[in-house]
Amino acid sequence: MGLLSQGSPLSWEETKRHADHVRRHGILQFLHIYHAVKDRHKDVLKWGDEVEYMLVSFDHENKKVQLVLSGEEVLETLQEKGERTNPNHPTLWRPEYGSYMIEGTPGQPYGGTMSEFNTVEDNMRKRRKEATSLLEENQAVCTITSFPRLGCPGFTLPEYKPNPVEGGASKSLFFPDEAINKHPRFSTLTRNIRHRRGEKVVINVPIFKDKNTPSPFIEAFPEDDEAARASKPDHIYMDAMGFGMGNCCLQVTFQACSISEARYLYDQLATICPIVMALSAASPFYRGYVSDIDCRWGVISASVDDRTREERGLEPLKNNNYRISKSRYDSIDSYLSECGEKYNDINLTIDKEIYEQLLQEGIDHLLAQHVAHLFIRDPLTLFEEKIHLDDANESDHFENIQSTNWQTMRFKPPPPNSDIGWRVEFRPMEVQLTDFENSAYVVFVVLLTRVILSYKLDFLIPLSKVDENMKVAQKRDAVLQGMFYFRKDICKGGNAVVDGCGKAQNSSELPPEEYTLMSIDTIINGKEGVFPGLIPILNSYLENMEVDVDTRCSILNYLKLIKKRASGELMTVAKWMREFIANHPDYKQDSVITDEMNYSLILKCNQIANELCECPELLGSSFRKVKYSGSKPDSSN
Ligand code: GLU
Ligand code: MG
Repeated sequence: MGLLSQGSPLSWEETKRHADHVRRHGILQFLHIYHAVKDRHKDVLKWGDEVEYMLVSFDHENKKVQLVLSGEEVLETLQEKGERTNPNHPTLWRPEYGSYMIEGTPGQPYGGTMSEFNTVEDNMRKRRKEATSLLEENQAVCTITSFPRLGCPGFTLPEYKPNPVEGGASKSLFFPDEAINKHPRFSTLTRNIRHRRGEKVVINVPIFKDKNTPSPFIEAFPEDDEAARASKPDHIYMDAMGFGMGNCCLQVTFQACSISEARYLYDQLATICPIVMALSAASPFYRGYVSDIDCRWGVISASVDDRTREERGLEPLKNNNYRISKSRYDSIDSYLSECGEKYNDINLTIDKEIYEQLLQEGIDHLLAQHVAHLFIRDPLTLFEEKIHLDDANESDHFENIQSTNWQTMRFKPPPPNSDIGWRVEFRPMEVQLTDFENSAYVVFVVLLTRVILSYKLDFLIPLSKVDENMKVAQKRDAVLQGMFYFRKDICKGGNAVVDGCGKAQNSSELPPEEYTLMSIDTIINGKEGVFPGLIPILNSYLENMEVDVDTRCSILNYLKLIKKRASGELMTVAKWMREFIANHPDYKQDSVITDEMNYSLILKCNQIANELCECPELLGSSFRKVKYSGSKPDSSN
């Protein structure tokens, strides 16, 4: 989850003293990059996915599953046996926030040919197999977005008590610091976010009210002032970064051919974020309770919210410069392409000096305000050895701020002196149980970018509407119940990337009929007379493409999954998990997930992921047969 520097981390007070230095040099570093590569074009499509994994241990005798705090050792071995031994190794492994997490990507980015889509799932299987091979027999790597009993007593192996004392990183009542990755970046982030904010982070997730759930549902925390004040009735209260960043997701990064293509894709995909997030919903349970949300987004957002009371608007501005309307982890606040300009209707807080400096350096308004907005944030971590840098050849200060703006989309300038082009990262998706599903979501998104570019599609709506969609997307069963603002006429024609889209307008002048509320089924599958549907558009694109039979078959299976999830014919992971718990013989309709229920759920998830049992409600029944009855052998056998 961002830049990993080695060295001695500074405290918040020390980091704060260097904040202006980091920002000033971060901007100089950005300018060096920008001037060096702003005219780069003709980069080819390259792309890659990132899957985050949890390590779990099953205690079959006591029917208990725990998160294993061995991520650092497992990662070390994976890297040693993999990339360090063979630069062409097919997988790459990186640390993640939890000491029970690892992150895997393909060893090399995928290229632009259609047949690459047929290698994604295979690569994901390799990753799962590779990581699994290092674990003990009763352990597994799971692709679950949120661990249902995260923060419950004894949820880690080895077990640790939380340490809500001064000096701890989280000071959490529930989440022990030992569950944080041992690389100093992660505990420093945790501690500095808390110090900057001036109190522990506060996460309140609405509880799902079942027949026997106490109403009001109230947990008392008499021993902890902060918790007593912050926890809300009818909510599951959490108080640590780990409750958010300790969740897993599925991300995709693309290299665009030029900066303007990257800006165009950034904008277009921003509107798709809430839609795909709802379609990928996989996190209904928190701290041992059934919640009323299906997606992790708001939880992570609150878990890293370092804004002070002044910045949050709770006190008059005295020591801080701005009111800031969102957490660092949130949806994007401005479009970057010329076509997006007229839809930029969110009040954007920017660092005015930085904005002026960027304009003076020849950067246009939209890009300048984007960067000046990211740079209202303070650096959260800084390493003593990394304060004075060579701005022409390093970008750590830029990356420091950039990579702790965890937004739905990320616009990524090339690293200095590299042959990497301008990239865009798509970040909202929840990770799915199986490699098949994860491949399906990834392929869907990548294909969508191809279609957006080939057909010059335009999904833009006012950004405030995208924000409203983000809120709807996280609600329970949003995929079937939610209504989302979406553009009606997406085929505007004209060469949007090259020509821009004419003069900016004030959003209040927009004809209101450009967008309307649609269900996900309508957006994805289309509805006669209302909207053509993304899947039908992808299908017609595929029909016109040269694709080998095997790849076509895989892609069609992936799209079928997305289609059926959107129509409700198949369940989202969140819905399936809810039903699993609701039907568990131990469940008392009181919204409580016991150790034993958690054990059976995660065991089942692991069996599904390893194809030891079928799960037609989630995956359908025909997909796998179609895929694996062909001549191509399943490489995991
Ligand atoms: N795990 C985080 C999430 O679920 C993302 C961390 C990262 O940026 O890699 O969104
Ligand atoms: Mg990550």
